[in-house]
Amino acid sequence: MTDRSDDALVAYFSMEIGLDPNMPTYAGGLGVLAGDTIRSAADLEIPMVAVTLLHRRGYFYQRLDEQGWQHEEPVAWPITDFCKPIPQRVTVDIESRTVHVAAWQFRVRGESGHEVPVYLLDTDLPENQPWDRTLTDQLYGGDEYYRLCQEVVLGIGGYRLLRELGYNHVRRFHMNEGHAALLVLALLEEKLASRSYEQGVPADLIDAVREQCVFTTHTPVPAGHDQFAPDLAHRVLGDRRCSWLKDCGHDQSLNLTQLALRGSRFVNGVAMKHGEVSQSLFPGYPIHSITNGVHAVTWAAPAFHALYDRYLPDWRRDQLSLRYAISIPSDAIWNAHQEAKRMIVEQVNRDTNAGFDRDVLTLGFARRAATYKRGALIFHDIERLAKIAEQQGPLQIVFGGKAHPRDQEGKHLIHRIHEFREALRGRIRIAYLPNYDMTLAKLLCAGVDVWLNTPLPPMEASGTSGMKAAVNGVPSLSVLDGWWIEGHVEDVTGWSIGDRVDTCTEPSGGRDVCHAAALYDKLEQKVMPCFYKDRERFIHIMRQAIALNGGFFNTQRMMAQYLHNAYRLVGEAIRRG
Ligand SMILES: *Cc1c(COP(=O)(O)O)cnc(C)c1O
Repeated sequence: MTDRSDDALVAYFSMEIGLDPNMPTYAGGLGVLAGDTIRSAADLEIPMVAVTLLHRRGYFYQRLDEQGWQHEEPVAWPITDFCKPIPQRVTVDIESRTVHVAAWQFRVRGESGHEVPVYLLDTDLPENQPWDRTLTDQLYGGDEYYRLCQEVVLGIGGYRLLRELGYNHVRRFHMNEGHAALLVLALLEEKLASRSYEQGVPADLIDAVREQCVFTTHTPVPAGHDQFAPDLAHRVLGDRRCSWLKDCGHDQSLNLTQLALRGSRFVNGVAMKHGEVSQSLFPGYPIHSITNGVHAVTWAAPAFHALYDRYLPDWRRDQLSLRYAISIPSDAIWNAHQEAKRMIVEQVNRDTNAGFDRDVLTLGFARRAATYKRGALIFHDIERLAKIAEQQGPLQIVFGGKAHPRDQEGKHLIHRIHEFREALRGRIRIAYLPNYDMTLAKLLCAGVDVWLNTPLPPMEASGTSGMKAAVNGVPSLSVLDGWWIEGHVEDVTGWSIGDRVDTCTEPSGGRDVCHAAALYDKLEQKVMPCFYKDRERFIHIMRQAIALNGGFFNTQRMMAQYLHNAYRLVGEAIRRG
């Protein structure tokens, strides 16, 4: 449909995009969000094009040994099953080398047939030097030098490719996280080419670039933002580009977040609280909030597809209609849930032989094994946990998640969860599913009874897996951080761990004790009695999770907000018809 490439008004740049569960081109929530963004853009017929890297060897395949130690293996995936090569080539300069960049096209098709093309950049070409051929192999792999070179390919190579393909009417360039920020340099470079300049970059050129760019930041801590030492930046980018950076206010290290902030007309965090936190990190720039969402059709289990098709026939096209789930009968919701639960219980038993039981209250916790997410918080006091299960009814917990290959603490966390599994054997069934990916996320978020989330505030910028759960009527039991501050209504959409004004403010060890105690209290006094003794009320909470949270925390609403607040192209798109 949109092969008329001059149609695209928005170009979306992201280092990772979860396009298909069988393409390992994403690491976690950021990439899945990018995929859901594009899927909703296609549904809404937004004239968009997207750019990312091919990641020939994927993020990685996670193998877990008996003790729960993670081993990483490269992934071989059949690129041509998903993507089509295109003949266009561009080049980028890295150090004193010319690196040739090719691309593959993947098409995301929306509900009405509108397509958003995605270009996956690839440097594995015979004309490149052997090391440069590996530049688009590994997502978040290699050292700082590798990372910066990848970012040159994404930001500068990606921009040049769009030009080469004839995308000459793009009005907004959307940078999904700072990895794509060198796009700002590419835009500047092009504007400079048509001007002679002696005394640095004229301010009006920077303004002209800014008019075109939108930046979404995803990290609430300064250490999470990509930064490169001045000599490395100089080595990779060269004198000329570094002098432009200087004119853009960079005189020390290259901070991609700063570059994106400087180069964007609209900047946003990914939840209300994250917008506020980002504003305090970057006081010089107005920072908005657009809370993340999930693509409901992608994340609803087959049984919920059937349920919504029956009761909310418009839901695929119009995700606001999930609000009307408020009138779906209890037994229909419960039956759909039992079907989704059967799928995850079977998967767990097949993969881990954990002997899960469909009648037992099942908690789910799965996401990147980053330490701030505190995957082992529920095991803070295993005797208390075991006693709760003894008194309130049986409990089983399923985990999943990869640690970044260089994150030793994250790997240790996975190992510790395996130790707790042994320590609790015979009292609480615990399973750790290896190689957590979109396929498993779909089963897990949909099929457990309660979704557990225990980040250390304010580290969780948004979090999206609780939203995937809500789309399947699964309530959250979560610390009040990220999206849950907005999605939580006690006893209505789920339960909080701790209070709205966090009273767990001791230094981090103390906060774990405090949040763990709050978690046990909630489990013991509310969640378990509700599940085992007041099933009708539990199902009503499920229904409200769909109506209130599924109906709002989806990427269709999110894209509408980007259109209205960030892209501001609604009128133009309508005029162009
Ligand atoms: C949704 C998703 C995530 C994001 O989880 P959070 O709740 O944001 O931590 C991570 N990994 C995969 C595979 C996902 O599908």
